[in-house]
Amino acid sequence: MTFARGAHATLPGAPLMLRRIPPANRRAIWLYTATIVVPVCVLLWLGLQSFERQRQSLARLTQERLALAVDAEARQAAAAALDDHAHPIVRTSFRIDRSLVIEPALRSPIPAPPPPEIAEAQRLELAMGKPDLALRAYRTLLAHHSQEAQEALALQGIARCLAKLGQDSEARETWRQLARDFPDSRDLAGRPFGIVAAINAGDIAGLFDRISSGRWDLSADQAEHFLKTLDPNRPSPYLERFHLARELEDGFVPAASLHPGEVYASTVGARRVFYRREASGQIAGIEADPSWLSALETRLTRDLDVHDTSRQAVLFYGASMLVVLFVLSAGMVLLYRDVSREARLNQLRSEFVSGVTHELKTPISIMRLYGETLLRQPALAEAERRDFYRVIGRESARLGRLVDQVLTFSRVERGDAQYDLQRGDLAPVVAGIADDYADWLEHLGFRVQRELPDSLPAVRFDAAALSQAVVNLLDNAVKFSGASRNIALRLAAADGRVTFEVEDAGVGIPTKDRERIFERFYRAPNDSGKGGSGLGLFMVRHIMEAHGGRAEVDSQPGQGSCFRLIFPVAG
Ligand code: ADP
Repeated sequence: MTFARGAHATLPGAPLMLRRIPPANRRAIWLYTATIVVPVCVLLWLGLQSFERQRQSLARLTQERLALAVDAEARQAAAAALDDHAHPIVRTSFRIDRSLVIEPALRSPIPAPPPPEIAEAQRLELAMGKPDLALRAYRTLLAHHSQEAQEALALQGIARCLAKLGQDSEARETWRQLARDFPDSRDLAGRPFGIVAAINAGDIAGLFDRISSGRWDLSADQAEHFLKTLDPNRPSPYLERFHLARELEDGFVPAASLHPGEVYASTVGARRVFYRREASGQIAGIEADPSWLSALETRLTRDLDVHDTSRQAVLFYGASMLVVLFVLSAGMVLLYRDVSREARLNQLRSEFVSGVTHELKTPISIMRLYGETLLRQPALAEAERRDFYRVIGRESARLGRLVDQVLTFSRVERGDAQYDLQRGDLAPVVAGIADDYADWLEHLGFRVQRELPDSLPAVRFDAAALSQAVVNLLDNAVKFSGASRNIALRLAAADGRVTFEVEDAGVGIPTKDRERIFERFYRAPNDSGKGGSGLGLFMVRHIMEAHGGRAEVDSQPGQGSCFRLIFPVAG
């Protein structure tokens, strides 16, 4: 057993699973891991990397394709939108004249000088400080003028003078009239009366919303001023257009040479703008609505089938990787199983060596003891002397059987075992073996029940091998009978087969060992201390397979076992 223990010495730190495997086999597993598993994993990893790079460049290409498609369609929409600002792509529109944004204007126009007739009344009102005279002059103007702009300016003067004269309610009425009748006329500073007069009349309800809805075309400073006056804390989306105008003035450089009629695209800050040179030399443009653009992108992404190809590639690569990993793991498991089996076989083999040595020593010691006694005591009684000879004969036969067994086994292992199959009747051969062993069995106290017919259908068999198989079974029946002393031998023919059975009522075989006892060197745990080589049943099965038959066992632990040899009847 020393050898066996040496073979299974453990390496400190080796994984638990590997500790049961001898170093040489462990080396095989490390080698497999180092030369196959690691390189394949590295290859898989490299594959993954290059796949990832490929996927990225594909994604880039698709993105470029998508960007081109989005740009083309957006440009088309922008071309239509430049003629019709109601197009859904439009967020705001703009117009640039020699690098100044004129629409939406950022600054109010420079106040215009008053028309001469208004100028006279204004001189009375403002320079001379005579509101009563000025009021009369404005009223005369109002009565004689039918031009909207003048009428509105006259009304504004009237309202202002009435206020200066302390006639507040008349002044408010006049402002109200001005706001109602001339909402789109502008004062000299370019501010719509719809706003200025309404504020002076105190009618500001809803005015913020009206301004925010774009009702009047205002410059940035006007819009900001009015909205701040009306509600300083309320934000208005209307002011957004002026942000665009400011960004355009700060950072927009149109393409160097603009072909009239062609639509150009550019990015100002985070805004996407499209523009065109008009016949007048001005640049007209729109800012595209980001939600319109992203809806367009979603639609084109779907149409271009952007995601599908990469998803398929991922699936394909993933599946191939799984297959490779599965094959590798299967290889690992198979190798581990093989190596463990080899390790187990080595252990059994070393046990076999010590078992056989022990088996050899026992008969040799008995024969030497009896031989020496016979030599030293010549005066032994005849009966005793005979007994001694019988024992020596029996032990030498046992020795011979064991040696035969080992020799036959090594022939089987080398593939040299040869059987001389002759057609004949098993009955007399089996009866002969039973007779040969009857004395021995009787001597050991066994009652042998024989159910052996005189003749049976012919089978093809090798008498020596058959005898070896039968003796092995008988030997085991004796060894594993425990306290029982009953053995049955049966021979019968049925269904084209001849069956020979050896039944004992001994210790039986644990269920899990029942198949394995036919393996070479295998000895079940019920074997404790019985000695043996673990070759007997292996040889039985081998012999039976060579005869075209088979060996079987039925057993109940604690109740006994029945071994069966089944031969096909010779045709
Ligand atoms: P061995 O020479 O050690 O008996 P065998 O191959 O003949 O080897 O038997 C293998 C094992 O099968 C035995 O060690 C024993 O555990 C079990 N075995 C064989 N015959 C019997 C039996 N009749 N009853 C119980 N166990 C048996």
